[in-house]
Amino acid sequence: MAQVSLRNISKVYAGAVKAVDNISLGIENKEFMVLVGPSGCGKSTTLRMIAGLEEISEGKLYIGDRFVNDIPAKDRDIAMVFQNYALYPHMTVFENMAFGLKLRRYPKQEIVNRVNEAADILGIKKLLERHPRELSGGERQRVAVGRAIVRKPLVFLFDEPLSNLDAKLRTQMRTELHKLHARLKSTMIYVTHDQVEAMTLGDRIAVMKDGILQQVDAPVDVYDRPKNKFVASFIGSPPMNFMSGRLIKKNGKIYFEEGRILVKIVDSMKNKLADFLNKEIIMGIRCENIYDKLFVSDAPPENIVKASCEVIEPMGSEVYLYLNTGKHTFIARVGGHDKPQVGQDMELVFDMNKVHFFDKATEETII
Ligand code: ADP
Repeated sequence: MAQVSLRNISKVYAGAVKAVDNISLGIENKEFMVLVGPSGCGKSTTLRMIAGLEEISEGKLYIGDRFVNDIPAKDRDIAMVFQNYALYPHMTVFENMAFGLKLRRYPKQEIVNRVNEAADILGIKKLLERHPRELSGGERQRVAVGRAIVRKPLVFLFDEPLSNLDAKLRTQMRTELHKLHARLKSTMIYVTHDQVEAMTLGDRIAVMKDGILQQVDAPVDVYDRPKNKFVASFIGSPPMNFMSGRLIKKNGKIYFEEGRILVKIVDSMKNKLADFLNKEIIMGIRCENIYDKLFVSDAPPENIVKASCEVIEPMGSEVYLYLNTGKHTFIARVGGHDKPQVGQDMELVFDMNKVHFFDKATEETII
């Protein structure tokens, strides 16, 4: 069993930089956990502490049932794949993949078998006699993964392994890593700043900001039920639209109001918003929950927002519209058939069942 447990882990670098602040996180056996967050949020430091490459300042780390704070990296039964591949240039692919096993004095035949097996899984059998300089970026990445696989470690750690690849290759390697996880059934912890990678790879994702863990959940739950405004803005592309305004009561109905926006709150949300009446609040809505009124037959007038269209980004099957109400800008994602003009005044329908609300002071989620 290879669950990994971080208990109140912190890291303070020399100069009192608190890179990781009291993180508690349990990674299940065979789980694919993604640590995601903007650059500098402490993801790599967390991963490097799990690997044993960085000392833990405070807290306890367990791999399986073993307390490993003081166990050196080489004895933790983990394998790490780095962003820069870290291949030995003077060794062939075979030698690179075999190196760790040789150091551990595995029998020769066992080494040959394991390297061949890993090369087979990764489709790099033809490359075994080449040197890293004779490989493309994607091939080097496969070799780096192969070197980790041959060890059959308890836990795989990946530190932004795809960020040096071009977009197409990145998508392809992402699919391959997905298959690899299904095939190897090992515990994997993967660091990335790319929320698309996080969403597509993770069984669960752990969102970090400023060294602090914000939310740990399945990707769809992070997307649908973000814990705070930061998570709501970081996960999803384009990011969620935010509008700051007030909740007001008119003729017994509750509205969100600001400038040209006046939209009615649905009944199911009223109770949770009661404390925020006549106060500043932030409303969030994802671009896919905004529609062009022209294409909605029965739009309630209380859900409509008038805005001018500033930029149109055709993406093929869909179009992104950048809209401006005078006070707020927001993005709507509409069907590829919808072709407004730049500068045109539009009426947009907000799906008020799908909006989120955040406390303006704490930025925590209310709904
Ligand atoms: P991420 O992987 O999310 O980009 P890092 O874990 O690399 O973030 O860094 C987290 C914070 O710790 C950053 O502020 C970074 O500058 C700082 N940091 C990272 N490594 C060191 C180090 N060796 N010495 C001092 N500060 C460091």
